[in-house]
Amino acid sequence: MRIETKAIHAGLDIENDSKAIVPPIHTSTVFEHSEQGFQEGDLNYTRYSNPNRLQLEALLTELEGGEACAAFSAGVAAASAVFQALKHGDHILVPSDVYAGNRNLVEKVMQPWGLEADFIDMTSVKNIEEALNENTRLIWIETPSNPMMNITDIEAVCDLAQKNDVLTCVDNTWPTPINQLPLELGADLVLHSTTKYFGGHSDILGGAIIAKEANDFFERIREIQQLGGAVPSPRDCWLLCRSTRTLPYRMRGHNEHAAYLAKFLQNHPKVEKVFYPGLATHAGHEIAKKQMSDFGGMISFLIAGNAEEAHHIVAGSTLIKRATSLGGVESTWEHRRSSEGEGSITPENLIRISVGLEHPDDLMEDLERALG
Ligand SMILES: *Cc1c(COP(=O)(O)O)cnc(C)c1O
Repeated sequence: MRIETKAIHAGLDIENDSKAIVPPIHTSTVFEHSEQGFQEGDLNYTRYSNPNRLQLEALLTELEGGEACAAFSAGVAAASAVFQALKHGDHILVPSDVYAGNRNLVEKVMQPWGLEADFIDMTSVKNIEEALNENTRLIWIETPSNPMMNITDIEAVCDLAQKNDVLTCVDNTWPTPINQLPLELGADLVLHSTTKYFGGHSDILGGAIIAKEANDFFERIREIQQLGGAVPSPRDCWLLCRSTRTLPYRMRGHNEHAAYLAKFLQNHPKVEKVFYPGLATHAGHEIAKKQMSDFGGMISFLIAGNAEEAHHIVAGSTLIKRATSLGGVESTWEHRRSSEGEGSITPENLIRISVGLEHPDDLMEDLERALG
């Protein structure tokens, strides 16, 4: 089955005895035990398992081509579970321009907890190889990175990791499985903030880990999900299954509109540089072309000016909303450095736009107006 078909049908039969075409939301927190008492694999208590969560996990597993998935209440909760599955003193490599929330998580929670981490440039495999040490256990990959759109060669890094007995986890939030399939390229784990494109309508918070193999490391992540309790509600799982049915077609629109606007921005005199992996001028374009089927809905660009002028431009839109986050049907943009706050390494003249599904000419006209 192709991914469009899987997005609509995968997981729906799980715990759906009534054969409802749209499965119900199971609000019950408890499920009756059999006469022999609780049996392994029975539904029991919603923190451990729930029909809606099982449906969502099966759907995400299918789309990423993995063996298992654990869904969480946020993308950062999913990332926490991966880090907590490691041990005190283990060393991880993280991209220097990793998603700011994950940098905060590593620096403010995981390093004090005992994880060792180095933040490095991951556009060069050689650089990663040189940063490995004898207690490196995990390489965290985010490509395209947020907000600089740096591209990491997933296959080459996973090769390097396997040779050194190191795990790889790819944050696939931006590309989604529609544009990039990291497990096929050799990654062990994929992370999603389902808050973004899977949710697609800016109304759900969620996260997930999908594993290539349901091995001991994944079982530890499952344990952290169930015992730590950062699980999504049945209603959020249901909503995510619902919105995922249209993910492949929404992504086509995001890809198409972003490519169109990236070209427009590139030719605009007020714009100094556009970061979009689909542009032939992008430093990572060749690798992006090799590992992505399309280039996504996110664009970053530098304006010819300072922070104040960037704020002025972002304030000048009428259609594109001033907001953080991404992946919604509506377009949003922001002065990224002020959203990231303390510790941000993002240039002060960078604007990040999440290109939505409005008519691309309406978006272009709004950009034209705001850029002046
Ligand atoms: C938003 C985001 C996250 C974190 O997800 P939350 O759902 O906000 O916890 C992780 N990685 C990337 C790339 C993101 O954009």
